[in-house]
Amino acid sequence: MLNFTVGPVQIGESVLNIGSEQVPYFRTPEFSAVMRENENLMLEFTDALKTSRAVFLTGSGTAAMEAAVINALTEKDKVLIINGGSFGQRFTDICKIHNIPFDEIKLPYGSALTKEILSEYESAYYSAMLINLHETSTGVLYDINLVKDFCAKKDMFLIVDAISCFLAEDISVSRDGIDVLLTGSQKALACPPGVSVLVLSEKAVKRVFETPQKCMYLDLKSALINGERGQTPFTPAVSILLQINQRLKEIKANGGVKTEIEKVKSLAEYFREKIKPFPFKNFSNAPSNAVTALKTDGVSAHGIFTVLKDEYGIWVCPNGGELKETVFRVGHIGNLTFNDYDTLINALYDMKKRGLING
Ligand SMILES: *Cc1c(COP(=O)(O)O)cnc(C)c1O
Repeated sequence: MLNFTVGPVQIGESVLNIGSEQVPYFRTPEFSAVMRENENLMLEFTDALKTSRAVFLTGSGTAAMEAAVINALTEKDKVLIINGGSFGQRFTDICKIHNIPFDEIKLPYGSALTKEILSEYESAYYSAMLINLHETSTGVLYDINLVKDFCAKKDMFLIVDAISCFLAEDISVSRDGIDVLLTGSQKALACPPGVSVLVLSEKAVKRVFETPQKCMYLDLKSALINGERGQTPFTPAVSILLQINQRLKEIKANGGVKTEIEKVKSLAEYFREKIKPFPFKNFSNAPSNAVTALKTDGVSAHGIFTVLKDEYGIWVCPNGGELKETVFRVGHIGNLTFNDYDTLINALYDMKKRGLING
């Protein structure tokens, strides 16, 4: 199968090979050294200050979302959540479960956050913001500068879910005023799912240590303390952490984050040019590098996903809920080549010839 979804994505050979090896015992100086290197590379790749920390949780991206909320926010906060799709909605669900007071800015699916919309919230009190910088479900990339200025002016604590845009967009936690940044192993990191990463500013680390413990498994205090010696409180997904190590080192050897982002961007541009003759419209009015969300006209988007999967050995990313029949997505993260996009485009031309896509 050729995988154009947004996670799990196509994995490179060297990372795949680690998955077939025996899982080593991990309470060792050798594994601690790997973890310290993982932390340092994550801090380097997110352009964090020396006083920042990175922690690795065993659990998919949602574990990091929930960990960020329960370790850095309390009932005394007032949070502003940007909700433009299923991941924004997830932050509201997490806050509801944990009794964190919030207001949400509901955006129409596919629409970016604007200065005008944000300015309506300028006079109200908020202590923190929760935002999915790339709302993967709709392919909308929010403007980090807009968010940064708004939060700086109001002295708000900024938690950014960058799960699908780390390594796909230019992000710097120090430049962009981000206190907590989240990512996950199965997106642009192109490893199997199961590990999520939080990068915390000095201010965020302080906040975590001042916040009462709410959960044992997702407790960031013990993760931070254990991390100082390159360890985790519980048995982590050892193999995935070794795979992340391999991937991070390869990115560094190949020219670093900028090169990686350029690769994702050029794949996105290549695909967007090739898809022009088809009767699909861009669903997102602020497209990311990571994914192209396409609105179909008069043909079932879910049908396209199913035919590609069953008859061509290709996975694109279907949408759920009310967008199921009208939107599908093509990802640009993971171990993909221009050639792979030619394969996808040829399959779509073939479907057109068969009358499965009209126009
Ligand atoms: C993938 C993703 C998540 C996490 O989803 P999991 O299934 O828990 O890994 C969260 N936010 C965004 C923006 C994502 O793309």
